[in-house]
Amino acid sequence: MVKVMVTGATGLLGRAVVAELEAHADFEVLACGYSRAVQGIYRLDLTHCSQVTAFIKTHQPDVIVHCAAERRPDVSEQNPAAALALNADATRSLTQAASQSGAWLLYISTDYVFDGTTPPYNEHSATNPVNFYGDSKRQGEMIVTEAKQGFAILRLPILYGAVETLPESAVMILLHQLLDKNEQLVDDRAVRSPTSTADIACAIVQMIQLQTAGEPLSGHYHFSASGSMSKYQMLLAMGDLLGLSTEHLKPVTSPTDSAKRPHDCSLSCERLASLSIQSNVMFNSGIEKALQQSPAAMALLKK
Ligand code: NAP
Repeated sequence: MVKVMVTGATGLLGRAVVAELEAHADFEVLACGYSRAVQGIYRLDLTHCSQVTAFIKTHQPDVIVHCAAERRPDVSEQNPAAALALNADATRSLTQAASQSGAWLLYISTDYVFDGTTPPYNEHSATNPVNFYGDSKRQGEMIVTEAKQGFAILRLPILYGAVETLPESAVMILLHQLLDKNEQLVDDRAVRSPTSTADIACAIVQMIQLQTAGEPLSGHYHFSASGSMSKYQMLLAMGDLLGLSTEHLKPVTSPTDSAKRPHDCSLSCERLASLSIQSNVMFNSGIEKALQQSPAAMALLKK
């Protein structure tokens, strides 16, 4: 039995990772959340180093999938100390504890470590984040790399999946703009590759299976769905899927977000592809399933 600790298990990606691990009989899952930790989930404040050390010493996981993060660029910009405490300092605590206990750490990172000017980015491309969120995640990556323990980093693009509330996903929240028939300005500039959390969770489980079977994985990996779209194009696809008019949507090319966003961080994913780990979920089928699995979305659609 492989004991896998998942941080951020109450979050968008962590929930999918826990579900996929639990579907395999050979994993024992230690799901860790924070403010949303309910029965069956350990409440662990990762910003308290002593809590992290004690948890890992007590439970001795074989693998740690570190999903927890402050992932909102605007919030990170407004409160950089809090973003750094979770994205970098907590990563240091986990890295140190994992090094001491012999656990393998998989750090979940982002395409926002790149500046978006020269896509596609491979696993060896130079990083140059354009906002504080990307910078804090890059600091987390550096901490993991500098530990020299054979840990791995998995960079991901924008996520969608089953949500508790629509703002949990920068893709799912677009549904509001589709349903509000007043004129809606939608970003048609930034190029994204929306990727399903269920798809990523399958890839993460495959990575863990290889690692624990004696095929060590270390360093940087990329995972992304194929196909690039702007948020405007995502909405056109969702409108088509749901049979809803998109005439009220107006594409705009000037960003309105407070934190700067990179233009196009498309990832090439050669390292995982060479291990036969690839995305299997296209946007249309993935978003349809995610909407069906999200009561908040279904309730809006039934109105
Ligand atoms: P999320 O939904 O915002 O979840 C964040 C998680 O962090 C929650 O489980 C939260 O727990 C936990 N957390 C917050 N503060 C904590 C603390 N002090 N101690 C312990 N846990 C704490 O994030 P996500 O979207 O799943 O992102 C997962 C990973 O993917 C992150 O590393 C992110 O950088 C990366 N990523 C995300 C996207 C995206 O589009 N979302 C894109 C690329 C990469 P509670 O809710 O219980 O407090």
